Amino acid sequence: MAARTGREYLDGLKMPRAIWVGDEKVADVAAHPAFAGAAHTMAALFDLQHRSAADCLMPDPETGEPINISHMIPRSRADLERRRRALQRTAEYTVGLMGRSPDYMNVTFAGFAGRADEWSAAGNDRGAANLVAYQKYLARKDLVLTHTIIHPTIDKSQGDVPRAGNDVALRKVDETAHGIVVRGARILATLAPFADELAVYPAVALPEGADDYALSFCIPMSMPGLKFICRDSCAKLGSSADFPLSSRFDEQDAFVIFDDVEVPRDRLFIDCNRAVYNAVMTTGWYPNVMQQTMIRAQTKLEFAYGLASRMAEVIGDSSPATAQMLGEIWTYAELTRAAIAAAEAGAFQYGAGVWFPAGPPLTALRAVLPTWFPRVAEIITLIGSHNLLAAPTQAVLEDAELRDLAARYLRGAGAVRADDRARIFRLAWDFVGSALAARSLLYERFYLASGARNYQIAHRIASRERADRLVDEMLGIACGEASTRPEPPRTRNLP
Ligand SMILES: Cc1cc2nc3c(=O)[nH]c(=O)nc-3n(C[C@H](O)[C@H](O)[C@H](O)COP(=O)(O)OP(=O)(O)OC[C@H]3O[C@@H](n4cnc5c(N)ncnc54)[C@H](O)[C@@H]3O)c2cc1C
Repeated sequence: MAARTGREYLDGLKMPRAIWVGDEKVADVAAHPAFAGAAHTMAALFDLQHRSAADCLMPDPETGEPINISHMIPRSRADLERRRRALQRTAEYTVGLMGRSPDYMNVTFAGFAGRADEWSAAGNDRGAANLVAYQKYLARKDLVLTHTIIHPTIDKSQGDVPRAGNDVALRKVDETAHGIVVRGARILATLAPFADELAVYPAVALPEGADDYALSFCIPMSMPGLKFICRDSCAKLGSSADFPLSSRFDEQDAFVIFDDVEVPRDRLFIDCNRAVYNAVMTTGWYPNVMQQTMIRAQTKLEFAYGLASRMAEVIGDSSPATAQMLGEIWTYAELTRAAIAAAEAGAFQYGAGVWFPAGPPLTALRAVLPTWFPRVAEIITLIGSHNLLAAPTQAVLEDAELRDLAARYLRGAGAVRADDRARIFRLAWDFVGSALAARSLLYERFYLASGARNYQIAHRIASRERADRLVDEMLGIACGEASTRPEPPRTRNLP
């Protein structure tokens, strides 16, 4: 099977899985009110790749069958530009609200497989071969992956990474004839109810003695012992006019428990090999996956700019204060677009013939976006004011007793009708005020570590060559004289 349709995706979702939401264990994800809306949005993304095949599909390099371009291992700058067009399609469909649409993990695994040379270091040849085979399987079956890479927080004073003896974090506890047994928990797995398989791979480097925690693998959601506890649903059933975002884009986030789960040997990419675990995320992973995440972020910012501008127009708000705030959102969107373009223009071959975007523009963006997104939400709230709470549902606007009154008292400036005004402000409320909006903001603050951590990483990996030269020149130190400053480490890992 190659690129799937929405129907084929929904059929795959019927595979059993242990998902809890609220106070119940869910039997049929696509039919459950907490998940039905997003399940059908996911299906629509599968149909989209066929509708926009010229942008979204490419022939599998070995079989010639169509696969999604997000599975492509980029081998030139042109490949990255082509991938951008496909990623934009997906981002536009969800206006960037589903951060973990399948392309996120497809891009991640294409990057891993392209750099199999890094995964095969330190005697991990078999793990690397498994990973390369799995990436082809992922692309050809067109599977959806959820992923979990962070260890649960029990006691922050103990640090972020598990040490030997930690009985909460995911670890290997046994070997079987067919593979290994893993036990423990991870936080979080966005998209879990909608995924076909779960991916586990490294994040923060592990300390000496923590080899049992150095794991990477992919397993089906149906594996016995795998349990997912979802957060409260933000989904709203109802017309998409009343809940334009909450009815469609709640991608869910789940806490994952591995209650003695057997991982087949051919699905193991790292089996307690700390050297590989600590190395594979430090070079190309970040700039590669950031192309997807920043295209999504840019799309969301541009949507926010359009929405805020439309809000101002329907209430006739052309005040300098509002124009200034609208210009501020546009500036964030434009700077994001420019950084993505700079990263693509600066793309280079990282090794093994694989091309990824330049890291620094994306590193800078990742650090600053956790403050830009809350500001954008604040601006939309300030422009919206009480109008955000005076946006009736379609049913009220059509109610025999209320419709004429609503048409008179809830109309907008000029010729703007009450229903048009209500639709804009309901969309704005769903974007900044609903439960989905609160979750979305949390996502932007933390989905790849906090802004605070990303600023620290940015400083740690920054090139200071020109900055130091400028300071040295001002200090009167001759060009070419040896600097007394030690070279910073050139690696990037979530700290
Ligand atoms: C909605 C959502 C979805 C997610 N989805 C996934 C997923 O699908 N898969 C997955 O693996 N993980 C997922 N995550 C988890 C995510 O990766 C982690 O939440 C992320 O790594 C942040 O974790 P943390 O609490 O350690 O953040 P930290 O970086 O520790 O931040 C916690 C707080 O400490 C502050 N802070 C940190 N360092 C400093 C400092 N030096 N000085 C001052 N303050 C500091 C931060 O500002 C913040 O307030 C998701 C998280 C969210 C919120």
